[in-house]
Amino acid sequence: MSLPPPQSGDLGPSPAPNQSARGPISIHLTSAPRARPKDADLVFGRVFTDHMAMVDYDADQGGWFDPRVVPYGPLVLDPAAAVFHYAQEMFDGLKAFRGADGKVRIFRLDRHCKRLHDGAPRLCIPSVPQDLSHAAITTLVETDRAWVPSSPGTSLYIRPTVIATEPFLGVRPAKRYVFFVIASPVGGYHGDAFTPARILVEDKYVRAAVGGLGGVKAGANYIASLRAAEDAKAKGYAQVLWTDAHEHRYLEEVGTMNMVALIGDEIVTPPLTGSILEGVTRNSIITLLRDWGFSVSERPLGMEELLRAHKAGTLREIFGCGTAAVITPVGTLGWKGEDLVINGGQPGEVARRLFEAITAIQYGRAPDTHGWMTEV
Ligand SMILES: *Cc1c(COP(=O)(O)O)cnc(C)c1O
Repeated sequence: MSLPPPQSGDLGPSPAPNQSARGPISIHLTSAPRARPKDADLVFGRVFTDHMAMVDYDADQGGWFDPRVVPYGPLVLDPAAAVFHYAQEMFDGLKAFRGADGKVRIFRLDRHCKRLHDGAPRLCIPSVPQDLSHAAITTLVETDRAWVPSSPGTSLYIRPTVIATEPFLGVRPAKRYVFFVIASPVGGYHGDAFTPARILVEDKYVRAAVGGLGGVKAGANYIASLRAAEDAKAKGYAQVLWTDAHEHRYLEEVGTMNMVALIGDEIVTPPLTGSILEGVTRNSIITLLRDWGFSVSERPLGMEELLRAHKAGTLREIFGCGTAAVITPVGTLGWKGEDLVINGGQPGEVARRLFEAITAIQYGRAPDTHGWMTEV
């Protein structure tokens, strides 16, 4: 592969993706299917299905081309590929479920494809057209349908990812990318327990600032968060509760989940001001809570207010929400050397009700009144 000449000042927009060049998705089946793990042995993200979906992008060839499903396997990349040096990368995460009726359904596929599409410009990555990511994901899940586990709580975790592959060390948006989708059968996150987590309120490190990458599912946000999470673990907490980058005063996210509190009769979740990722689970629970008649406010929530509510006995619940666990109750909040116990360290009623309602829709036990499930 020959290296392109350095291109100073090459900062112009990439040509619009040429959608007509895509054609149908070709399928190349593996000749060596692997043994599938037993449902009881499943953990998160360790084993992958027999196939993966891939689509190439080349700015000089008019955009995205050659969508295909191929045997799962290593990528061959030039060590100079831009993703290794400047982290030009983004991903998403969604799940397919096998219902009691044996049918496989993907939760909120359209919204995940839209988030992948809409987040790309912030990273100067060419957006994957939504019909293309939709087709790549459904074709992969169809091909590896047998890998979708069926025991309660299990699912197929799907990881669409875009990386910059152009071998070039100049600092500018790459001209070549790969969009790939891999899938991993995963176990239930909570088991039977639904155990509340011990969370440390972070007042030193910053995950994301307004104007930064926090609103996009960029791998760079995750590496920015690891130091704090490791330090919190060393202190006996499972994760951190991120506070705003400016004053460490307003609450933002619980680890890699959106944050929700029940104060009196008001459900509060921080507003999407740019440093917070717009979770699909967050959107889903806001929708359900409003269906159920709760008042839901998307507004800033400061640590002072939380402490006051805790003191007054009106802080009823805190929980995180995201695709991996759906809902994770927070039982303890560490703040300035003290532990605040929430709801006696027990999971709250709203957290439990939301978890039950969302999983019932995902597994086809409850009617899908919002059109959230895509049957594959
Ligand atoms: C992915 C993610 C979430 C949760 O989003 P879901 O779409 O609900 O899975 C929340 N916060 C961050 C930082 C994330 O990366």
